[in-house]
Amino acid sequence: MDTDFQRFVCLVCGYIYDESKGDPEHGLAPGTRFEDIPDDWYCPDCHVTKADFVAVKDMPVRDVSTDMVVRVSTGGQSRDASFQDNAVVIIGGGMAGWAVAEGVRSRDPERPIVLLANDSGDYYIKPQLSNGYAKGMDAAAMVRESGAARAERLGIRLLTFIRALEIDRNRRRVITPRGGLPYEGLVLATGAQPRRFAFPGSAPPPYVVNELRDYRRLRQSIDARPGATVAIIGAGLVGCELAEDLRTGGLSVVLLEQARRPLERLLPEPLAEELADRLRAGGITFLPESRIEGIDADGSRHTLQLADGSRIEADIVISALGIQPRVELARAAGLACGQGVSVNDQLRTRDPGIFALGDCAEYGGQVTPFVFALRAQAEVISAQLCGEDLRYDPQPPVVVVKTPSLALTVCPPPAEFAGSWQRIEAGPEGSHFECRRHGELLGYALSGSMTARARSLETVPLTVQQAVA
Ligand SMILES: Cc1cc2nc3c(=O)[nH]c(=O)nc-3n(C[C@H](O)[C@H](O)[C@H](O)COP(=O)(O)OP(=O)(O)OC[C@H]3O[C@@H](n4cnc5c(N)ncnc54)[C@H](O)[C@@H]3O)c2cc1C
Repeated sequence: MDTDFQRFVCLVCGYIYDESKGDPEHGLAPGTRFEDIPDDWYCPDCHVTKADFVAVKDMPVRDVSTDMVVRVSTGGQSRDASFQDNAVVIIGGGMAGWAVAEGVRSRDPERPIVLLANDSGDYYIKPQLSNGYAKGMDAAAMVRESGAARAERLGIRLLTFIRALEIDRNRRRVITPRGGLPYEGLVLATGAQPRRFAFPGSAPPPYVVNELRDYRRLRQSIDARPGATVAIIGAGLVGCELAEDLRTGGLSVVLLEQARRPLERLLPEPLAEELADRLRAGGITFLPESRIEGIDADGSRHTLQLADGSRIEADIVISALGIQPRVELARAAGLACGQGVSVNDQLRTRDPGIFALGDCAEYGGQVTPFVFALRAQAEVISAQLCGEDLRYDPQPPVVVVKTPSLALTVCPPPAEFAGSWQRIEAGPEGSHFECRRHGELLGYALSGSMTARARSLETVPLTVQQAVA
């Protein structure tokens, strides 16, 4: 069989159709040749047709900088200015990318800033994706400010529905399907993608909930099937939160987990057991130790085959199997990557002109995919880009789990100490667990009204924890 597959790029947004992978979500099996795709197929991201695609190897590369104009504001006045080579280019229009744009603009009203978003760049608070359904929020209601309005307010150039394809470090350019973008400082804010597992069977890939467009697709599917049964695969943070949210919103929910308990790696055993009880008491069918062998679909009806021979029927299947930092751009540009893009305490990569933050970045061997971390990181990067030597001082993560049936606040200890929890206090109003080493507090887990104690608990700073570990 000829396996000499090619890749084709959409000249409008940069979506890449890879013949070896196909586009299973839109009915194109892996191995489908570009020439065999029907003419009415459209780009999954920007909806142009096949005619706007070229083979990646034939892609024209020119600079787009000359026709770029940015809006800057000084002392309340705004005006147009031409794009200059001292531009800050930000890749990624999530909370991290926007936080850097705001941080730089608040320090320097004149600096040209370009933000590249592979969607509309609309600003939303991502944590709401797992607790907005019960509040009746659709995707539109989650948008706090449109990308266009935010760009106008901050005086930055926003390029929407466009992907960064490559970083040319020698020429200091980001290569996009519309040409090259010169930068003085480049910020990688490309986030993380959901881990996907290709379950055998005839069903299309399950839904994921990682971005606003994912949520929009899921909502459309739910709205088209009133009273649907939803199967969620994975009882991690997103899986548990979504399960409660959808159940509270009136759907039937089955939560499947390979481990014995929900949030098994995060919580002390008794708290994980209590969470399982609360989820069940709320009407969720929680099925621990469930290994899925395949998913079949017959119309909109899905059947999940489990390893123990049982079957679960559902209308909608969601995969919540964790996330993976997006490092492809950085890796292809020769930047050091572990799990995420490796950065130092100035949040610079191996190339001092390129920074990384948020879910795509790794500092001290750790990825910290939480909002508090990206906010602190954005401050450091904005300061560095504007000539201030602010350094990143990572704080231990404090995770507030959005499961209303059981309030939980956890500061997880380093992985090697995860099993050594001690119960400090437990009662009807909640529990308090700690993990200590030589008397030093490495982590804690609090439930119920005892979550209020988080304010007074101070763990050993992360850098010391790493030395201990
Ligand atoms: C359901 C859910 C619930 C959560 N709840 C909480 C919570 O309660 N508390 C908390 O602290 N955190 C929570 N988080 C995590 C938190 O939301 C993330 O840490 C944070 O939003 C990450 O922001 P980011 O900008 O780094 O990444 P993202 O939001 O992923 O943004 C990155 C953007 O870059 C784009 N991009 C990637 N590659 C390219 C490219 N080549 N060209 C152009 N654009 C590109 C992506 O498409 C994406 O839009 C939750 C996450 C999820 C999914």
